[in-house]
Amino acid sequence: MDFRIGFGYDSHRLSEGLSLRLGGVDIVSDFGCVAHSDGDAVIHALCDALLGAAALGDIGTHFPDNDDAYKGIDSTLLLEKTVDLLHQQGWRVNNADITIVLERPKLATYKPLMQIRLAELMRVNTDVVSVKAKTNEKMGAIGRGEGVAVTAAVTVVREGDN
Ligand code: MG
Repeated sequence: MDFRIGFGYDSHRLSEGLSLRLGGVDIVSDFGCVAHSDGDAVIHALCDALLGAAALGDIGTHFPDNDDAYKGIDSTLLLEKTVDLLHQQGWRVNNADITIVLERPKLATYKPLMQIRLAELMRVNTDVVSVKAKTNEKMGAIGRGEGVAVTAAVTVVREGDN
């Protein structure tokens, strides 16, 4: 059995009047992400963690942000494609643990929805996906509500003695 850990990080600036989507779930908010894609920092961090675990590069390698094909793209598609890449190499997702740092709005009611949606997209059981959220205690840019940051850790496994 081959076992790997991957770690990912993503951040986006927030601006008034844009839509906010995290973990494939639309969040009711006065502020949304400034981004080339739909700005789903949860999915971007998760894709990087998965790609990192399989040593398959990063999200920018596979889905460049200067490529018009990915302009405004629904990030859930990027996660599905990333999981396909891992499956092609024999990897399956063992678990994922995500931390979202956002000053507002509060994400308590959205966390279970993200957990269900991300599990569905990664084709795993809901109980192996963890979504945590916290504020930055009003410190720095994120504390002033100027942005959102996300970290993701994953483990993946592959049968055999590679
Ligand atoms: Mg991003």
